[in-house]
Parts: sequence; structure tokens; C-alpha cells
Amino acid sequence: MSQILDGKLIANKIKQNLKREVEQLKREGILPKLAVIMVGDDPSSKIYVKNKSIACAEIGIAYEEFLLNDNTTMKQLLELIEKLNKDNTVHGILLQSPISKGLDINEAFKAIDDKKDVDGFNPCNVGKLCLGQDTFISCTPLGIIKLLEEYNINIEGKNAVVVGRSNIVGKPMLQCLLNKNATVTICHSKTIKLEDVTKKADILVVAIGKPKFITKDMIKPGAVVIDVGINRGEDQKLCGDVDFDEISQIASYITPVPGGVGPMTIAMLMNNIVKAAKLKLS
Ligand code: NDP
Repeated sequence: MSQILDGKLIANKIKQNLKREVEQLKREGILPKLAVIMVGDDPSSKIYVKNKSIACAEIGIAYEEFLLNDNTTMKQLLELIEKLNKDNTVHGILLQSPISKGLDINEAFKAIDDKKDVDGFNPCNVGKLCLGQDTFISCTPLGIIKLLEEYNINIEGKNAVVVGRSNIVGKPMLQCLLNKNATVTICHSKTIKLEDVTKKADILVVAIGKPKFITKDMIKPGAVVIDVGINRGEDQKLCGDVDFDEISQIASYITPVPGGVGPMTIAMLMNNIVKAAKLKLS
């Protein structure tokens, strides 16, 4: 039986530490603040954003939401970003994806001040991650690395396989693992014989968005399995991209869904906001 990587537990621990850091920042005259922009009416985004606002309230970070309607133009979106870039009371800016069709999200990410880019999606910060420099790192991969470290799971020299190559999870995950000296392979929908690659993984990270897609026969016994997926199964219950019941029989460690990567992602967002606020001290 695998050991569970308890993201909820570790995230709570991290948030408690951040709460103390926020109190200290306040004593030094800085009230960390997150500004969240939403464009359009995506129902999942509303849930994600609500969870982020709850986390901010828990640790004392100020929070403001900017809700733009579906007809918003790129010019209006960029004007809002520019206003928030210039606002000294705002330390972190988060543009919730997806945004309305017809708007260029990459252009918008590029417009966010790289020092307020708490999601780590500005190309400047993506580039710094590739160069192994200190930067804002995308919250999900950063949370996964923290989770592995908390459980003293060695990354260096390990065969790590990432399934999924999105800009927000798969690609930065690859970089984070590489920066920790893993030997990394990344797979996607065009990968031939996926199971031949996943079976070689000592550490397997799956982020594809397909319920229970990764099955026991695709895993090396003893592997560390990280499940990023958030899906509704046939029974309408939340489940990951990994068949937890089967794979938890043979993996050494596994993340549950919910309660694994999700809470770590939010904790890392909080971490990045505090990091951004601290830049004001230097
Ligand atoms: P995307 O849809 O942007 O990317 C999915 C990736 O999976 C693509 O690279 C795609 O390949 C690949 N893929 C799809 N089908 C297959 C297949 N059959 N075999 C191999 N690769 C495949 O997803 P995201 O990265 O945004 O999200 C992935 C999942 O993680 C979703 O369930 C999402 O809800 C969840 N998520 C969870 C977070 C958390 O905090 N827990 C945070 C972010 C996301 P290709 O590029 O070739 O199309």
C-alpha cells in the first residue's frame, strides 16, 4: 500500500507559516494584496477564484476581484492590467484562465508586471525558470516540488516522467524537475506507446484532464505518483487522472484527489504573493 502524500496537511502547515510572515509584513507597514481578474463567466473559474479568496482571508492577505464581462476588449483588459501594475497597494496580479474567446491570454500574461506575476506565467518569469534563476514559479509545479521535499523524496538522478505539456502545469513541471537534477521525459497526446514511457518513471506526474486514465499496468511498482487532474468520474465524484484505487496498491507514494496537489497549488499562490510583497522591503 502506498503512503499518501497529504497535500492538505502540508498546505495548512505552509499557510500557518505564511500567516506569521504576513503579520510581520504588516508590522513593517506592508499589507500584501492580491488582485484577481476574471473575464467571462466560466463556472469552474468561479470555484477556483473563491478558494483563492478564502485562502487569502485565512492568512490575512487583502484581496480584490475585477470581474469583466464577455464583451471586454483586449484594450480594456490591458488597461486594467496596466492600472494594477501601477497600483502600489497591489503586490500580486492573477488573471484567471480561461478568458473570453477572441482575447489573447498570452498577450495579457506578458503585460502583467513580472514582479507582480504571482502565477509565474509572464514570459520573463518562464524564461528565468528555464535558466534556473530565482523567479515566480507556476503554483502547481512549485507545490508538487514542495510536497516531494516535505516527504523527503529524493528527486536528483531519478527518472521523472510528466504526462501533459500545458504551459501552466506540464512544461514548468518539466523545468522544476530538471532544476532538481531529475532525468525528465515529457509526454503528450502524440506520444507513442505512452505506457512504455510511464513504466520507466520513478516519479510520475500526470496532468491531462482525463478521469482515471493512468492505470496500474502503466506504472512501475514503487513509483511516486503525482496526480494533478481534477475531473468528475462517471459517478460524478471528484477524481484524478490516475486510477487511485488500483495504483495505490503498487506505488510507494501517491497524491489523492481531492486533498493532494490542489491545496498545494493554493498554498504556493499564497507563498508567491508574500514573496511579491517582500520585494517592497528590498
Ligand atoms: P490542458 O488541457 O491544457 O493540457 C492537457 C495535456 O494533456 C496536453 O498537453 C495534452 O497533449 C495531454 N494529453 C491529453 N490527452 C492525452 C493522452 N491521451 N495521452 C497523453 N497526453 C495527453 O490541461 P492542464 O494542464 O491545464 O490541466 C490538466 C488537468 O489538471 C486538468 O484536469 C485540470 O483541471 C487539472 N489542474 C489541476 C490543478 C490543481 O491545482 N490540482 C491546477 C491546474 C490544472 P497535447 O498537448 O498533445 O494536446
